[in-house]
Amino acid sequence: MLLDISCLPKNKILCIDMKSFYASCECVDHGLDPLEDYVVVVSDKNRSGSVVLAASPKMKQDFGIRTGSRLYEVPRHRHIHIFNARMKRYLEISVQITKLFSTFVPFEAILTYSVDESWLTLDGTEKLHGSPKEAAQKIRSVIWNQFGLPSCIGIGPNRFISKVVLDVYAKKQGLAECTYEEVPKKLWPVPLREIWGIGSRMEKHLNNMGMYTLGDVANSSLDRLRKRFGVIGEQLYYHAWGVDLSPPFIDARTFTQKSIGKGITLLRDYWRENEILTVVLELCEEVAKRAREIGKIGRTVSFSVRYSHNEGGFHQSVTLDAATNLTMDIYRVCKRIFHKFYDGRSVRVIHVALENLSDEESLQLSLFEDRTKERALAKAMDAIRDKFGPNALLRAVSYTPGSVARVRNGYIGGHQA
Ligand SMILES: [Mg+2]
Repeated sequence: MLLDISCLPKNKILCIDMKSFYASCECVDHGLDPLEDYVVVVSDKNRSGSVVLAASPKMKQDFGIRTGSRLYEVPRHRHIHIFNARMKRYLEISVQITKLFSTFVPFEAILTYSVDESWLTLDGTEKLHGSPKEAAQKIRSVIWNQFGLPSCIGIGPNRFISKVVLDVYAKKQGLAECTYEEVPKKLWPVPLREIWGIGSRMEKHLNNMGMYTLGDVANSSLDRLRKRFGVIGEQLYYHAWGVDLSPPFIDARTFTQKSIGKGITLLRDYWRENEILTVVLELCEEVAKRAREIGKIGRTVSFSVRYSHNEGGFHQSVTLDAATNLTMDIYRVCKRIFHKFYDGRSVRVIHVALENLSDEESLQLSLFEDRTKERALAKAMDAIRDKFGPNALLRAVSYTPGSVARVRNGYIGGHQA
């Protein structure tokens, strides 16, 4: 590919990560040192199979304990501090940090990616904060001084580059920058599994095609990747060249979106109830996750099913008492509709949507405070899925009666996905 860098948008983007966020928050609240002490945050201290949600840098370094490890792997030692996750507290601190960001850049220049990661677009703040590197240093020291929390920042001309340079370099050295010109030198040697957006399944496919690093993808061909993976392959190829055209400022109009929907046309006829409901659950999970990503909740769930051979189907909408973006809330409604209307014919198309959207923040301020924990947990699980793939938590869960007990025993603190 002949890449004309001069044509590409050159924004000044920071990708900011709060180092071992949950563990660091516990350190601050308990008078421990986030960088020097051994700290582990788990979903439930009383269950040995409990998932480690965060481990301090020292814990990772000296004991190899990381997010996704199990409590029984954590050595019992008086210098190792184990805490139960307090999602509500982490979310509170996260909101305060976002408020701090808004003293550096306008609101539409902040994109919160997860509870501990955000993108900031610095364009237009040069006079105030200097170069991106200077601004990044300033932000890191303010976060450290005000919250006692360590952070890392990746700097790039777009979101993709800033995120990858964060993951690959800044998480080790604190601050790292990459320009378009430096992509071949800094990003091409990186193994695929370390690249944001490439999951283990995608990695395997690419390995089978003879590609092991980002450079291998860049030097493959757009045509080959498009043929194999469609739009995703196309995006992958452009990313490998450091190209990411996602808008650096958030258009307020995207927040007036009316509904979030997800449908699937099945490759064969489905008629077994548990098979169909598994697909429904996956769709609910995707819709709910999307809503959480953009900070929305919805009051109306709509669910439709189309039968094979043009035999019709059904469509129903149900409006809830309270808006939600929790998978199981949406799933319960779909399941109820399904049981009411399904007549055993074979199914080809399933569609789930969350409508009647409003801002999640309006919920936080409302009467439904008691669900904050559940929602924070859902977000934490989104983060785990982003790291380990969608299968990590959900697919292992089958909602047949026999497996419910398994869910209660095994998964995060006994909460269902
Ligand atoms: Mg982090």
